[in-house]
Amino acid sequence: MATVAAISTPPAVGGISLIRISGERAIEIAAKVFHPFGSTEVAKMKGHTCVYGKIVYGGETLDDGLLTVFLAPRSYTGEDVAEISCHGGIYVTRRVLRAIYSLGAEPAQAGEFTRRAFMNGKLSLTQAEAVADIISAEGENALKSANMMRDGELFRKIKSVSDSLVHVLGSLAAWTDYPDEDLPEAGPEAVLPALEDCKQRLEKIISDYDAGMIFREGISCAIAGRPNVGKSTLMNALLGYERSIVTSAAGTTRDVVEERLKVGDVILRLRDTAGLRDSDNEAEKIGVRLAEKAIGEAQLVLAVFDGSEPLSESDRLLLEKIKGVRHIVVINKGDLPQKIDKSLFSDEIILEVSAKEGDGLKKIADAVYEMFGLSGYSQHPEVFANERQKLCCDRALKYVSEAISALSLGETLDAVTVLIDCAADALLELTGEKATDAVVDDVFSRFCVGK
Ligand code: GDP
Repeated sequence: MATVAAISTPPAVGGISLIRISGERAIEIAAKVFHPFGSTEVAKMKGHTCVYGKIVYGGETLDDGLLTVFLAPRSYTGEDVAEISCHGGIYVTRRVLRAIYSLGAEPAQAGEFTRRAFMNGKLSLTQAEAVADIISAEGENALKSANMMRDGELFRKIKSVSDSLVHVLGSLAAWTDYPDEDLPEAGPEAVLPALEDCKQRLEKIISDYDAGMIFREGISCAIAGRPNVGKSTLMNALLGYERSIVTSAAGTTRDVVEERLKVGDVILRLRDTAGLRDSDNEAEKIGVRLAEKAIGEAQLVLAVFDGSEPLSESDRLLLEKIKGVRHIVVINKGDLPQKIDKSLFSDEIILEVSAKEGDGLKKIADAVYEMFGLSGYSQHPEVFANERQKLCCDRALKYVSEAISALSLGETLDAVTVLIDCAADALLELTGEKATDAVVDDVFSRFCVGK
C-alpha cells in the first residue's frame, strides 16, 4: 500500500501545523526532510519518541520543528507513522508537505488515515464513525456520545448479540448435520430462548436510540401564540437573557429567532416565532408564514396563551394548528388577574407561569423530560451515531423476529438458518466486520483530509 501524507491541522494560520505521513516508507521519507539537532538518527528512532530538528529540502531550510515517530503496529493507522510539527503558517506547511510528496509520499484521501486504522483492525467501523463525530461535535452531549461510541460500548453490545446469533447458527448446523446424534441443546426448541434474548437486546438498543438522539441533538421547539401573549418574554426568561425584542406593541417579533436552551441534560432548540394572527402588514405576513412553518417542523410546540384575557379567535386558531403536534399549553401572565377559561384546554399538559416574574418556568423543563420519556435516563444511553447503524440494527431485529416466527410455525431449519444468517450479517455490517466497499466508502466520505 502506498505511503500517504497530509496536513492534519486546519488549513489556517496557527501556532503549529502537523503533517502526518503513514505507510511503509514513512520513516524513510521523514528522515530525508527532517534533520535532528544532535546525534539522533531518524531511521533508528523508537516508536512513540520525539525529536527536535530542522526541516530541509533541496538544500534549503524550510523551518524547524518536531518529529514524532510511531512504529507499526503501535500507531493510529497501524502502519509506521511520522508526524512533523512545524510552524503554523499556511505557506510553510504546504512547502513541507510538497517536499514530502516529492520524496515519494502520495496525497492522503479524506479520512484515509482512519480508513487505514479500520483496515488494520485498530478501530471498528462504529469507532471510526465516532472519530468523525468527535471532530464534528458541537456540544457536550454530542461529544460524550461520540466518546462512548469510540470506547466501543455499542460495538461490544452489538458484538455480543451477533456472537449469540453465530452460536445459534452453529447449534442448528450441528442439529442438521448430525440428525442421529442426541443433541438436545442444539434443537429448534433449545435455540428459541437464545433468539428471544437476542430480540430483546436488539429492541432495547433500538429503544434507547430515540432518547439518545434527543440527548445528542436536542429537541426542536417552537414557541407559538398570538401577538403579545408574552412569547419573547418567556423565551428570554428561559434563556436568562434578552434575545428577542420585547415591546408592548403587538407584532414586533417578525423573524424566527433561534436559541439553544439547556433543560436538564437536554438542549431545546427554541424558535420564537412571529405571533399568529391575520395581518395586512407584508413583513408580518411573512413572519406568520414562518411561524406556521416552524410549528409544522417542530418536535415540540410551547403554545403560549395570555391568562389575563379571555381566549380569542387567534388563540383558537393556534389550538387548531397544534392538533397532532406534540405540545405544551403555557398560560402566561399568571401574576395578573386571570380571565382565561381553562376548561377549553382539555386533556393537554397545561402549565401556568409568569414569564415576567419567572414563576413556574421549571415546570416547563419537567414537562419536557416527562413528555419525551427522558426521566429514566440519568446518563446518556449508548446510542447509534447515525442512521446507517440504526438501519442495520432494525434489519437485524426484523430477521430475528422472522426467525422466531418461522421456528414457532415449524418451518424448515434451512429457512430459519437463512433468516438468522441475514440478521447476523446486518450486525456484522454495522460493526464493519462484513461491510461492503460501498458502505466503507460512504462512511469515510464524511471525513476531512488529514484525519
Ligand atoms: P409576544 O408578542 O408574544 O412575544 O409578547 P412579548 O413577550 O413581547 O410581551 C408582550 C407584553 O406582555 C410585554 O409588555 C411584556 O412585558 C408583557 N408580559 C409578558 N409576559 C408577562 C407576564 O408574565 N406578566 C405580565 N404582567 N406581563 C407580561
